[in-house]
Amino acid sequence: MKPLTKQQLVGLINSVDATRDQELNCADCQNFAAEFAERQLVGLPLNEALARVEQHLVICPECREELLALKKILETSG
Ligand SMILES: [Zn+2]
Repeated sequence: MKPLTKQQLVGLINSVDATRDQELNCADCQNFAAEFAERQLVGLPLNEALARVEQHLVICPECREELLALKKILETSG
């Protein structure tokens, strides 16, 4: 593997800064949304990844809506 260029490193540091504390973005959140909804429905505790989903939902109304819709589907199909 080639070592990173300085530019790549700076980009990496900036993106880490922007996401601080490994906060999820919307795409990541969607990836976990189904598992999150299922666990909530059956009352299982959230694992670390899903705890981050929960954090994201606090700050992101869009994903909150998505999850709500997903839960409705799960509730009616289960
Ligand atoms: Zn989101």
